[in-house]
Amino acid sequence: TETGLQPEALDLNPAPAPANRDLMSKFDAIIAERQALIDTGVTDPFAIVMDEVRSPTEAVIKGRETILLGTYNYMGMTFDPDVIAAGHAALDQFGSGTNGSRMLNGTFRDHMEVEQALRDFYGVSGAIVFSTGYMANLGMISTLAGKGDYVILDADSHASIYDGCKQGVAEIVRFRHNDVADLDKRLGRLPAEAGKLVVLEGVYSMLGDIAPLREMVAVAKKHGAMVLSDEAHSMGFYGPNGRGVYEELGLEGQVDFVVGTFSKSVGTVGGFCISDHPKFEAIRLACRPYIFTASLPPSVVATAAASIRKLMTAHEKRARLWDNARTLHAGLKDMGFRLGTETPESAIIAVILEDQTQAVAMWQALLDGGLYVNMARPPATPAGTFLLRCSLCAEHTPEQIARVIAMFRAAGRAVGVIG
Ligand code: PMP
Repeated sequence: TETGLQPEALDLNPAPAPANRDLMSKFDAIIAERQALIDTGVTDPFAIVMDEVRSPTEAVIKGRETILLGTYNYMGMTFDPDVIAAGHAALDQFGSGTNGSRMLNGTFRDHMEVEQALRDFYGVSGAIVFSTGYMANLGMISTLAGKGDYVILDADSHASIYDGCKQGVAEIVRFRHNDVADLDKRLGRLPAEAGKLVVLEGVYSMLGDIAPLREMVAVAKKHGAMVLSDEAHSMGFYGPNGRGVYEELGLEGQVDFVVGTFSKSVGTVGGFCISDHPKFEAIRLACRPYIFTASLPPSVVATAAASIRKLMTAHEKRARLWDNARTLHAGLKDMGFRLGTETPESAIIAVILEDQTQAVAMWQALLDGGLYVNMARPPATPAGTFLLRCSLCAEHTPEQIARVIAMFRAAGRAVGVIG
């Protein structure tokens, strides 16, 4: 042949790779661990299927009606009639997908509309939409912090923040979770002239605790650093306009970049970053996770735009969500469960268990009783903890919350977590 390849010399039925060079063999330990868990007879907590979803708070799992207390559907927008109508209309008018990057053929009318909705929601001049929140962090962190710059991040940061650091070429410095003095100390050791990006989260999603953002931002500014806050778990219900913890604490104008997602309060999928920086649009020209992937389907951005516009005036929902969080936190605390926070700081309430066996037994007992919560374990959780993470929805009714508390009481006693 022209390339010099001799096809007749090739064995077209080659033997599989030898066991010691089978790249899949590195997963043997994790496969065995999972099998051991399933062999105990429990439902696999990481293989749940929602056979039907009836509302933001109810689904059918394994043939059983189940209350959902482990979704990020904080504002219950997934079944909002206006949101669904916007999705249908876009699907009919623009088809099922864009077939391309935002930079080429993948920007449709509703990608522009959702970015305008974000500018209006946040009261800023710039908004850029990514295909997921994960990609927004990946893209923003790796693009903002270049060679010779520093990214300074909280040790309990979300995986997408860590991966954004790995994707980029900046130096990485970690500080102890929510420790203002440690942040100050570590920033103080860096070269004064270097570019610095401090990355924080408004709400930390495992324990549901909030960052002392006011002090953290003051420290960052003292050292000449820019600040990016991931407000994924606060959008819609924190701050007078639902912009996040940074708004609640009066930090607008001081936080340079806010990252968020459509997969939680907005109720669909997608990610974004907003900023007032005059050069913000340049990110679109340089950011690989923005450029080298297909844009969101038109129905998705249309539902996101409709949802974001409704969230601007969702004051009643916000109030109901906070009522639910307070009621559940008090109910669980009074029964003697160990919780991630002393007081309800967000819509996430984490129940801390002793070990995997106890966590799985408790999780299974709740599921059997008709309640779904998230099972979370290391490495996703801080300090090797096993948690059952409850996330509330504005659409949970007071009756549902009462049933949830009763189910926790029954399961907690059966498993021996509470007396
Ligand atoms: N940031 C934080 C803090 C998150 O918790 C998550 C998702 N759980 C993301 C970013 C990623 O968002 P998405 O689901 O849109 O990829």
